[in-house]
Amino acid sequence: MLGLSRIKNSYSFEPVEISGKPTGVNVVESDIKNGYAILSDGVIIIKVPRRCAPRRKLEIANDLYKKISAALQKNPARFFRNKELEFYDGEIISPFGVTLAIRVLKSERKTASCSIRNGVLAVKAPTHADEILISKCVSNCLRKELASQARKLVEDINSLHFGSALGKVRLNSSLSVWGSCSPKNDITLNLRLFFIDRKFLEYVIVHELAHTHVRSHSKRFWREVERVIPDYRILRKGLKSSGTVIKTEYQSEVAPTEKEAAIPDSGENAGAVTSSHP
Ligand SMILES: [Zn+2]
Repeated sequence: MLGLSRIKNSYSFEPVEISGKPTGVNVVESDIKNGYAILSDGVIIIKVPRRCAPRRKLEIANDLYKKISAALQKNPARFFRNKELEFYDGEIISPFGVTLAIRVLKSERKTASCSIRNGVLAVKAPTHADEILISKCVSNCLRKELASQARKLVEDINSLHFGSALGKVRLNSSLSVWGSCSPKNDITLNLRLFFIDRKFLEYVIVHELAHTHVRSHSKRFWREVERVIPDYRILRKGLKSSGTVIKTEYQSEVAPTEKEAAIPDSGENAGAVTSSHP
Protein backbone atom coordinates (compact mmCIF):
# COMPACT_ATOMS: atom_id res chain seq x y z
CA MET A 1 0.00 0.00 0.00
CA LEU A 2 2.85 2.30 0.87
CA GLY A 3 4.39 1.70 -2.54
CA LEU A 4 1.14 2.54 -4.26
CA SER A 5 0.60 5.84 -2.50
CA ARG A 6 4.20 6.81 -3.09
CA ILE A 7 3.95 6.10 -6.77
CA LYS A 8 0.71 8.07 -7.05
CA ASN A 9 2.37 11.13 -5.55
CA SER A 10 5.30 10.84 -7.87
CA TYR A 11 3.19 11.12 -11.04
CA SER A 12 3.47 14.82 -11.42
CA PHE A 13 3.73 16.28 -14.90
CA GLU A 14 3.68 19.86 -16.08
CA PRO A 15 0.78 20.74 -18.39
CA VAL A 16 1.67 20.49 -22.08
CA GLU A 17 1.01 23.49 -24.30
CA ILE A 18 -1.07 22.54 -27.33
CA SER A 19 -1.65 25.31 -29.85
CA GLY A 20 -0.99 27.87 -27.11
CA LYS A 21 -3.32 26.25 -24.58
CA PRO A 22 -2.01 24.46 -21.46
CA THR A 23 -3.33 20.91 -21.34
CA GLY A 24 -3.38 18.89 -18.11
CA VAL A 25 -1.91 15.42 -17.72
CA ASN A 26 -3.54 12.53 -15.86
CA VAL A 27 -1.78 9.25 -15.15
CA VAL A 28 -4.06 6.24 -14.77
CA GLU A 29 -3.04 2.73 -13.73
CA SER A 30 -4.92 0.10 -15.63
CA ASP A 31 -5.01 -3.67 -16.26
CA ILE A 32 -3.17 -3.38 -19.54
CA LYS A 33 0.00 -4.93 -20.84
CA ASN A 34 1.43 -1.96 -22.71
CA GLY A 35 1.30 1.63 -21.61
CA TYR A 36 -0.08 4.33 -23.90
CA ALA A 37 -0.92 7.99 -23.98
CA ILE A 38 -3.85 9.71 -25.67
CA LEU A 39 -5.48 13.11 -25.80
CA SER A 40 -9.04 12.68 -24.55
CA ASP A 41 -11.55 15.48 -23.99
CA GLY A 42 -8.78 18.05 -23.81
CA VAL A 43 -6.71 16.14 -21.26
CA ILE A 44 -3.61 14.02 -21.81
CA ILE A 45 -4.21 10.58 -20.36
CA ILE A 46 -1.17 8.41 -19.70
CA LYS A 47 -2.11 4.80 -18.98
CA VAL A 48 0.42 2.60 -17.25
CA PRO A 49 0.17 -1.13 -16.51
CA ARG A 50 -0.99 -1.72 -12.95
CA ARG A 51 0.91 -4.97 -12.62
CA CYS A 52 4.53 -3.93 -12.66
CA ALA A 53 7.08 -2.50 -10.29
CA PRO A 54 6.48 1.11 -9.12
CA ARG A 55 9.81 2.24 -10.55
CA ARG A 56 8.96 0.71 -13.92
CA LYS A 57 5.56 2.45 -13.88
CA LEU A 58 7.27 5.75 -13.38
CA GLU A 59 9.71 5.04 -16.22
CA ILE A 60 6.81 4.16 -18.55
CA ALA A 61 4.89 7.29 -17.53
CA ASN A 62 7.97 9.50 -18.06
CA ASP A 63 8.68 7.91 -21.42
CA LEU A 64 5.10 8.40 -22.62
CA TYR A 65 4.99 11.97 -21.31
CA LYS A 66 8.11 12.84 -23.29
CA LYS A 67 6.81 11.13 -26.42
CA ILE A 68 3.32 12.59 -26.40
CA SER A 69 4.65 16.08 -25.57
CA ALA A 70 7.03 15.92 -28.53
CA ALA A 71 4.36 14.51 -30.85
CA LEU A 72 1.84 17.19 -29.80
CA GLN A 73 4.34 19.95 -30.50
CA LYS A 74 5.15 18.49 -33.88
CA ASN A 75 1.65 17.81 -35.19
CA PRO A 76 -1.24 18.58 -32.82
CA ALA A 77 -3.88 18.07 -35.53
CA ARG A 78 -3.38 14.33 -35.71
CA PHE A 79 -4.45 13.97 -32.09
CA PHE A 80 -7.92 15.27 -32.73
CA ARG A 81 -8.84 12.67 -35.33
CA ASN A 82 -9.21 9.69 -33.11
CA LYS A 83 -11.98 10.54 -30.68
CA GLU A 84 -14.72 8.46 -29.13
CA LEU A 85 -17.42 7.57 -31.61
CA GLU A 86 -20.02 10.33 -31.41
CA PHE A 87 -23.70 9.98 -32.14
CA TYR A 88 -26.43 12.61 -32.18
CA ASP A 89 -30.19 12.83 -32.00
CA GLY A 90 -31.56 12.75 -35.55
CA GLU A 91 -28.41 11.25 -37.05
CA ILE A 92 -28.76 8.51 -39.67
CA ILE A 93 -26.06 5.86 -39.37
CA SER A 94 -25.28 2.79 -41.49
CA PRO A 95 -23.06 0.40 -39.58
CA PHE A 96 -22.46 -2.72 -41.66
CA GLY A 97 -24.99 -1.51 -44.22
CA VAL A 98 -27.88 -1.40 -41.71
CA THR A 99 -29.51 2.03 -41.79
CA LEU A 100 -30.65 3.33 -38.41
CA ALA A 101 -32.08 6.68 -37.33
CA ILE A 102 -31.03 7.82 -33.85
CA ARG A 103 -33.81 9.28 -31.70
CA VAL A 104 -33.09 10.63 -28.23
CA LEU A 105 -35.97 10.90 -25.78
CA LYS A 106 -35.14 12.71 -22.56
CA SER A 107 -37.19 12.21 -19.43
CA GLU A 108 -36.99 12.12 -15.63
CA ARG A 109 -35.03 8.91 -15.24
CA LYS A 110 -31.76 7.97 -13.63
CA THR A 111 -30.02 5.94 -16.31
CA ALA A 112 -29.97 5.79 -20.09
CA SER A 113 -31.16 2.81 -22.11
CA CYS A 114 -31.26 1.98 -25.78
CA SER A 115 -33.31 -0.20 -28.11
CA ILE A 116 -33.51 -0.86 -31.83
CA ARG A 117 -36.82 -1.36 -33.62
CA ASN A 118 -38.02 -0.74 -37.18
CA GLY A 119 -34.89 1.10 -38.25
CA VAL A 120 -34.88 3.42 -35.23
CA LEU A 121 -32.25 3.33 -32.51
CA ALA A 122 -34.09 4.91 -29.59
CA VAL A 123 -32.15 6.28 -26.63
CA LYS A 124 -34.11 6.97 -23.47
CA ALA A 125 -31.93 9.31 -21.45
CA PRO A 126 -32.09 11.39 -18.27
CA THR A 127 -32.72 15.10 -18.86
CA HIS A 128 -29.15 15.98 -17.87
CA ALA A 129 -27.59 13.51 -20.35
CA ASP A 130 -24.90 15.08 -22.52
CA GLU A 131 -23.57 13.98 -25.91
CA ILE A 132 -20.89 11.83 -24.32
CA LEU A 133 -23.39 9.77 -22.32
CA ILE A 134 -25.71 9.42 -25.32
CA SER A 135 -22.82 8.41 -27.58
CA LYS A 136 -21.68 5.78 -25.09
CA CYS A 137 -25.19 4.40 -24.81
CA VAL A 138 -25.50 4.16 -28.62
CA SER A 139 -22.09 2.45 -28.85
CA ASN A 140 -23.12 -0.14 -26.24
CA CYS A 141 -26.34 -0.80 -28.07
CA LEU A 142 -24.58 -1.19 -31.44
CA ARG A 143 -22.01 -3.56 -30.00
CA LYS A 144 -24.81 -5.89 -28.90
CA GLU A 145 -26.78 -5.43 -32.11
CA LEU A 146 -23.84 -6.14 -34.40
CA ALA A 147 -22.32 -8.98 -32.37
CA SER A 148 -24.12 -11.80 -34.19
CA GLN A 149 -23.27 -10.39 -37.63
CA ALA A 150 -19.67 -9.98 -36.60
CA ARG A 151 -19.64 -13.57 -35.35
CA LYS A 152 -21.05 -14.81 -38.63
CA LEU A 153 -18.49 -12.93 -40.71
CA VAL A 154 -15.62 -14.21 -38.55
CA GLU A 155 -16.96 -17.77 -38.82
CA ASP A 156 -17.35 -17.52 -42.60
CA ILE A 157 -13.80 -16.24 -43.12
CA ASN A 158 -12.49 -18.80 -40.63
CA SER A 159 -14.13 -21.77 -42.33
CA LEU A 160 -13.01 -20.57 -45.78
CA HIS A 161 -9.37 -19.88 -44.95
CA PHE A 162 -8.30 -21.02 -41.49
CA GLY A 163 -10.43 -23.82 -40.05
CA SER A 164 -9.55 -22.93 -36.45
CA ALA A 165 -11.59 -23.65 -33.33
CA LEU A 166 -12.94 -20.25 -32.35
CA GLY A 167 -13.74 -18.80 -28.93
CA LYS A 168 -16.00 -15.81 -28.42
CA VAL A 169 -16.37 -12.94 -30.85
CA ARG A 170 -16.77 -9.57 -29.17
CA LEU A 171 -16.94 -5.94 -30.17
CA ASN A 172 -15.39 -3.10 -28.19
CA SER A 173 -14.91 0.65 -28.58
CA SER A 174 -11.16 0.80 -28.05
CA LEU A 175 -9.36 4.01 -28.97
CA SER A 176 -6.11 2.23 -29.59
CA VAL A 177 -6.61 -1.27 -30.96
CA TRP A 178 -8.51 -2.47 -34.03
CA GLY A 179 -8.65 -6.08 -32.98
CA SER A 180 -7.15 -8.81 -30.84
CA CYS A 181 -6.99 -12.58 -30.58
CA SER A 182 -6.65 -14.28 -27.19
CA PRO A 183 -4.89 -17.61 -26.51
CA LYS A 184 -8.37 -19.21 -26.48
CA ASN A 185 -9.03 -17.71 -29.92
CA ASP A 186 -11.50 -15.16 -28.61
CA ILE A 187 -11.61 -12.47 -31.26
CA THR A 188 -12.31 -8.85 -30.33
CA LEU A 189 -13.09 -6.28 -33.01
CA ASN A 190 -13.38 -2.52 -32.77
CA LEU A 191 -16.86 -1.09 -33.36
CA ARG A 192 -15.26 1.64 -35.51
CA LEU A 193 -14.54 -0.98 -38.15
CA PHE A 194 -18.28 -1.14 -38.85
CA PHE A 195 -18.30 2.50 -39.89
CA ILE A 196 -15.45 2.42 -42.38
CA ASP A 197 -14.91 0.54 -45.62
CA ARG A 198 -15.81 -3.13 -45.23
CA LYS A 199 -12.41 -4.22 -46.59
CA PHE A 200 -10.73 -2.90 -43.42
CA LEU A 201 -13.03 -4.96 -41.22
CA GLU A 202 -12.24 -8.03 -43.31
CA TYR A 203 -8.54 -7.33 -43.13
CA VAL A 204 -8.62 -7.07 -39.31
CA ILE A 205 -10.62 -10.31 -39.10
CA VAL A 206 -8.12 -12.08 -41.35
CA HIS A 207 -5.27 -10.64 -39.28
CA GLU A 208 -6.76 -11.90 -36.02
CA LEU A 209 -7.64 -15.29 -37.50
CA ALA A 210 -4.06 -15.59 -38.77
CA HIS A 211 -3.05 -15.34 -35.10
CA THR A 212 -4.94 -18.57 -34.48
CA HIS A 213 -2.20 -20.19 -36.61
CA VAL A 214 0.78 -17.99 -35.72
CA ARG A 215 0.70 -15.99 -32.48
CA SER A 216 3.57 -13.61 -33.20
CA HIS A 217 3.93 -11.01 -35.96
CA SER A 218 6.64 -13.10 -37.61
CA LYS A 219 7.28 -13.50 -41.33
CA ARG A 220 5.30 -16.72 -41.20
CA PHE A 221 2.37 -14.78 -39.74
CA TRP A 222 2.38 -12.19 -42.53
CA ARG A 223 2.52 -14.99 -45.11
CA GLU A 224 -0.69 -16.33 -43.54
CA VAL A 225 -2.32 -12.91 -43.96
CA GLU A 226 -0.99 -12.55 -47.49
CA ARG A 227 -2.34 -15.96 -48.45
CA VAL A 228 -5.88 -14.60 -47.92
CA ILE A 229 -5.36 -10.90 -48.76
CA PRO A 230 -2.45 -10.53 -51.22
CA ASP A 231 -2.52 -6.69 -51.02
CA TYR A 232 -2.90 -6.54 -47.23
CA ARG A 233 -0.07 -3.98 -46.99
CA ILE A 234 -2.26 -1.27 -48.52
CA LEU A 235 -5.05 -1.94 -46.02
CA ARG A 236 -2.63 -2.05 -43.13
CA LYS A 237 -1.22 1.31 -44.12
CA GLY A 238 -4.72 2.74 -44.49
CA LEU A 239 -5.61 1.73 -40.96
CA LYS A 240 -2.41 3.18 -39.60
CA SER A 241 -2.78 6.57 -41.22
CA SER A 242 -5.07 8.06 -38.57
CA GLY A 243 -2.73 7.95 -35.62
CA THR A 244 -3.39 9.56 -32.28
CA VAL A 245 -2.14 7.17 -29.68
CA ILE A 246 1.37 6.97 -28.30
CA LYS A 247 2.27 3.53 -27.08
CA THR A 248 5.16 1.97 -25.30
CA GLU A 249 6.19 -1.64 -25.24
CA TYR A 250 6.17 -3.19 -21.81
CA GLN A 251 7.26 -6.69 -20.96
CA SER A 252 5.19 -8.12 -18.14
CA GLU A 253 7.33 -8.83 -15.10
CA VAL A 254 4.78 -11.26 -13.69
CA ALA A 255 3.10 -14.22 -15.32
CA PRO A 256 0.45 -12.67 -17.54
CA THR A 257 -3.18 -13.44 -16.88
CA GLU A 258 -5.24 -14.70 -19.77
CA LYS A 259 -6.59 -11.22 -20.41
CA GLU A 260 -3.15 -9.71 -20.49
CA ALA A 261 -1.83 -12.48 -22.64
CA ALA A 262 -4.22 -11.50 -25.42
CA ILE A 263 -2.20 -10.38 -28.40
CA PRO A 264 -2.09 -6.60 -28.09
CA ASP A 265 -1.54 -6.07 -31.78
CA SER A 266 0.79 -3.16 -31.83
CA GLY A 267 0.75 -3.70 -35.57
CA GLU A 268 -2.98 -3.13 -35.82
CA ASN A 269 -3.63 -0.43 -33.28
CA ALA A 270 -5.43 2.66 -34.44
CA GLY A 271 -2.34 4.25 -35.85
CA ALA A 272 -0.25 4.25 -32.74
CA VAL A 273 3.29 5.48 -32.59
CA THR A 274 5.28 2.79 -30.89
CA SER A 275 8.75 2.85 -29.48
CA SER A 276 9.93 -0.42 -30.94
CA HIS A 277 7.69 -0.98 -33.97
CA PRO A 278 8.14 2.06 -36.21
ZN1 LIG B 1 -1.59 -8.97 -34.78
